[in-house]
Order: sequence, then structure tokens, then C-alpha cells
Amino acid sequence: MSNVDWDEDDPFEEQRDNVENPMGRLFRVYGIPNAAQFFVGVVASVSARVLDLLPPLMLGIAIDTIFGESAFGEQVPLVVLPQSLLPETQTEQFWFVIVVIAGAFGLAALFHWVRNWGFNSFAQEIQHDIRTDTYDKMQRLNMDFFADKQTGEMMSILSNDVNRLERFLNDGMNSLFRMLVMVIGIGALLLWINWQLAIVALFPIPIIAATTYLFITIIQPKYAEVRSSVGQLNSRLENNLGGVKVIKSSNTEEYESDRVDDVSLDYFDANWDAIRTRIKFFPALRILAGVGFVLTFIIGGLWVFQDTPPLFFSGDLSVGMFVVFILYTQRFIWPMAQFGQIINMYQRARASSARIFGLMDEPNRLAEDPEASELVVDDGDVVYEDVSFGYDDEPIIQNIDFKVQGGETVALVGPTGAGKSTILKLLLRMYDVDDGAIKIDGQDLRGITLQSARQSLGYVGQDTFMFFGSVEENIRYGTFNASHEEVIEAAKAAEAHDFIQNLPDGYDTEIGERGVKLSGGQRQRLAIARAMLRDPEILILDEATSDVDTETEMLIQRSIDDLTANRTTFAIAHRLSTIKDADTILVLEDGEIAERGSHEDLIGNDGLYAHLWGVQAGEIDELPEEFIQRAAQRRARTEASDDWSAPGDEAPSSSVYSTLLSKPVCCQS
Ligand code: ADP
Repeated sequence: MSNVDWDEDDPFEEQRDNVENPMGRLFRVYGIPNAAQFFVGVVASVSARVLDLLPPLMLGIAIDTIFGESAFGEQVPLVVLPQSLLPETQTEQFWFVIVVIAGAFGLAALFHWVRNWGFNSFAQEIQHDIRTDTYDKMQRLNMDFFADKQTGEMMSILSNDVNRLERFLNDGMNSLFRMLVMVIGIGALLLWINWQLAIVALFPIPIIAATTYLFITIIQPKYAEVRSSVGQLNSRLENNLGGVKVIKSSNTEEYESDRVDDVSLDYFDANWDAIRTRIKFFPALRILAGVGFVLTFIIGGLWVFQDTPPLFFSGDLSVGMFVVFILYTQRFIWPMAQFGQIINMYQRARASSARIFGLMDEPNRLAEDPEASELVVDDGDVVYEDVSFGYDDEPIIQNIDFKVQGGETVALVGPTGAGKSTILKLLLRMYDVDDGAIKIDGQDLRGITLQSARQSLGYVGQDTFMFFGSVEENIRYGTFNASHEEVIEAAKAAEAHDFIQNLPDGYDTEIGERGVKLSGGQRQRLAIARAMLRDPEILILDEATSDVDTETEMLIQRSIDDLTANRTTFAIAHRLSTIKDADTILVLEDGEIAERGSHEDLIGNDGLYAHLWGVQAGEIDELPEEFIQRAAQRRARTEASDDWSAPGDEAPSSSVYSTLLSKPVCCQS
């Protein structure tokens, strides 16, 4: 059955492949702590189904004894009751049968309720535990894991996979026990009553099982095709809705309608193919069930009717027991038809738990030293000692060696892809260095706890993410014990107070999807306020003033100046005007430091920095030809390696050169 197991193109294939016996592990890790509910569910399920079998049997007994001539309990000995308790007169027997049937219905209803309670609470508890554990693990994973997985794929584990498990644990298990009790219970009863007729009645079971098996092996690849085409359809729709402005402005509505038509048709075809197979299955089952039923009826009927066993059969068959046969044969066919469904659910659940456990087993590349100590920041000196690093085997930055005195600002500039963000990601310890060391006040980053290191580091990036919630909650994010007054102080320092007051509910205004939309500049000022409130010893500004107009930039720059005063600061900026006052400027090219010094030193050098500065001042005509050619070559290289990048991650998509060459944005020194 394993060939019908997995979705194609599963982005979690690698994780999944390493998990052994995922369902066993699911029950061991999550099932055992909730075993009580499971046990209650199983006992109640079996009891309810057994009680369901009682009324037809009592009916058969009644027919033979009350309306026929047999002694009560003769055809089917009522083994659970001593002979002395069995009713003797016909009226007593009649009422006895009614009481047993009514009692069986009542008790069965009670057990069905308990069974639902048991299985549902078992499934819900496990679903909750798995979801929270998976989320917890997910947010602790290294950044490189997120770099090549899309958010949608992670969401799919947290919702679809967890839901599938829940469905199997609830509906699947329920159907499984129902099927087992019905088939085993009815089979045993029939064999006990009359083993010869039972063989006739039961013969469709293996054929039904085989047909169902065949059905799922045929239908599974078709379902995989449906899933894949619905995925393509959704991606196309999502992409088109997102790009509706471009579609309208390029007047390509018809072209896009055709494209949607094509993928929708693929989905239609795949679905129709699956439907054609599916709608043949149930009639086929009906025929099998019907053949069994008719055969039982013919043989049983002749037996009763002629009062002698037909063909090679032997022994007695009463009318009542014949009725029991007919009623029971009807009952076990449909639970059997669910056999395929249950296997299907099981396989999906198995694939989902393999994905979930695969993710949970994903190793952390940053192994925390068990002896790690707390970081104690004194002066805030940061040293990079001969640092080299690569994401995979290929080196990205080499021999980076510099020192920042506590309270100073160092700026990293250079073309896209030079390695600026990578250098800062190492300081944030999203990755560990391959060679060399990074030290804060003499303490190697690898020897201090991640938690204490990140506590001392503040980060304001180009991607100023806001959480659902109020403005105040967003500023307070990470410094949860700050008072309202402190929040206002921070907002004032970040030049955000005025615009916040103009929002509909001031600091209580909800932002995010269901609240007001803030401009890029406003979000950036909130992010700066958030950093101000945290008051970290070391600050990292990664393109903190990208994407804003010149006036807002001026406001933000003022707030940044306040923020960076007397704080060790690392800044990446494409607009060189924003970092020209930095104590040291490191100019990076191809993962190495090409130049270093103050703005004045570097202008004097007449190297890469001086040329970049020239571009930004609009002196394009005066640039040496060689500089422009190198820029074009570098651009071509960066574009070639842009494929890996995750949305919202690091490198801005437009090159510094293309931006700078087309748009002079700053002033002369
Ligand atoms: P910059 O910040 O100077 O634009 P980056 O540090 O973002 O440069 O990138 C330096 C190089 O590292 C680029 O060539 C980029 O393709 C590569 N890179 C960055 N992040 C990753 C990653 N997560 N996985 C693989 N390669 C990466």
C-alpha cells in the first residue's frame, strides 16, 4: 500500500523520510497520556455495537417461540440467563422480548454518547498537543529552514496535517471499531446459529475487501492528480488576484481569463476522472452485497419452505433464524464498504504524522553549549575576528576582521549580495560562524546563551513586521512590562507620537489586516519605538530607512540618531547620506572588506565608496567606465543567485546599482 501513500512534490519529503513508524510514535507519545479517553471510547463503542445486534436476534427468537412452536431459547440458547429466569407463558415471553429490545436501544444510545465523548476528546486533546508542540518547535528552527520553505507550507502542517490526524483519530477509529464489531460479531453469531448458511451469507466479505483494496489503489493516484491540479488552480488565482492592478493596466483580462480557464479545465478533468471511478465503486459493492443476500434468501428460503435442507446442506433452520440471517446479512455489508475509507484515512494520517514528526526531529544547526553562560554587556565592544561563513559549502564572507568600540556606529555598505546582511545575521546568531569568532565584550557568542545574547541585541530591519493588535501592544512587543508612559516616551523619541495621536483610537488603534493600514514610514517609526523601549546595548539597523520618502526619512533619521546615541550600532544602508556620520564605514565587495574608514577617508581614497557616493549625487557622467562594467557584472551574478531567496528575507530585490544609477537620491558631501 505504500505506493499510494504520499503527496507528490512534498516540500517536507526530506524530513518525512527520516521518520520510522509514525503512527506507532503518535500513539506512544500522544496517545498514552490520553489513554483513558481512548479506552472509554473503545469499550463504549464495542458495547454499543453489540447492543445494536440484539434487537434482530430477539425478533428471530420471538418469531420462533411466540408465533411458532419452539421452546423459548431453544434455537438460540440465551446463555447469559439461567433457565429458571426465562419466561414461560407466551405473554411473559412477548413482554420479555419487548423489554430486552427497548433496553438494548436505550443502553446503546447511552453507549453511543459515551463512545463519541471518548473518541472526540481523545482526538481533540491530541490535536491540541501536537499543534502547540509543532508550533513551538517551528519557531525555534534555524533561519535556513525558513529560507527554503514557504509560509503556506508551514501553515499546511499546522492546519491540514493536524486536522487530518484528528479526523482519523475520531472518525477513522470509530468506523474501524464499528466495522470490527459488526463483521466479527455478526460473523460469529451467524456461524453459531447455522454455520452452513453462514458460509453462504459471509462469502461476499473477502470479495468486498479485495474490491475495496483494488478501488483505493486505482483512485489514489487520481486523487493525487486532483490535489496537484487544485494546487495549481489556487496558485494561479492567488497570483492573479494579487496582480490585478498589472492585469488591468496591461489590458490583459482576456489573456488571464484564458489561463484560468486552462488550469480550471485541468482540475475539472482530473476531478471528473476520479468521480468516474468513484461512482462505479458503490454500485459494484451493492451488486456483491445483493448477490450474497439473494443467495442466502434462496437457500434459507428453500430450507424453511420445504422443511428440508436443499442441495448438500444438512440440519434444521427455523423461520426466526432465517429472519435473523436476512437482517444480519444486510447489516455487515455497509460497514465493510467503509474498509477502503478507513485505510485511506489511515494512510493520510500516517503521511501527516510523518511530516509532523519529521519537522519535530529537524535538528538545530545551532547547538547550544550546555555550559553556556549569560552575556554581560559592559562597554558594548564588538569584535569580528577573522570570520568566514557560507550557507552551504560555498563561502559567502571571508576573513572579516574589525572591531567596534562600545557606543560607536559602524556602517556596512556595498552592492547587493556583498554579504552585509549575512555579517549581521551572524551577530544575531541566526547562524554560527564557520571560522574565526565574534565576541561581545570579550565573550565568544558561541559560549553564551542565545536567550541572553538576543536580549542585548536590538534589530530594526527593512521588513517592519506588525502583529495583529493595538499600536501600543506593538510598541510594547518584547518589553511586556513597560508602562503606558514609557510607551509614549519611546514613541515620542521615535517621532511617532504625533501620527499615533491622529489615528482613530490613538494608541489603542488596531492595526493589521482588520485594522488601519499604516504606511511604510509609520511602521518603521513604530519599529524604532519598539527598539527604543527595549533599550538594547547593541543595535542593528538593516536598511531601516528604505522605502520611505525623503521627508519621512528625515524624521526617521532624527529618531534614529536619538536611538543610536551612546549605543554600539551596526547599520546597513543603501542611501549613503544616512550613514555618512558613522564612526567607521566598512565597504564590502564579494564577501570581503574592500575599504574601511570614515566618510572623509573613503571619499579621499577614490575607490568603490567614492564612486557609489558619486552615483548618489547624480555624477553618473563622471564615473569611470570600469566601475560601471564591474557593477553590471556583479548585478548579473546576483540575479543568477537570487533564486534561493525567501520572500521578505534579506536582500532587497533591486540592485543598488540599478537603483542608484537611475535615481540620484542624495546630496553631495
Ligand atoms: P547583502 O546584504 O550585502 O545584499 P547578503 O548577505 O544578503 O548580501 O547575501 C550575500 C550572499 O549570500 C548572496 O550571494 C546571497 O545569494 C547569499 N545568501 C544570503 N542568504 C542566504 C541563504 N539563506 N541561503 C543561501 N544563500 C544565501
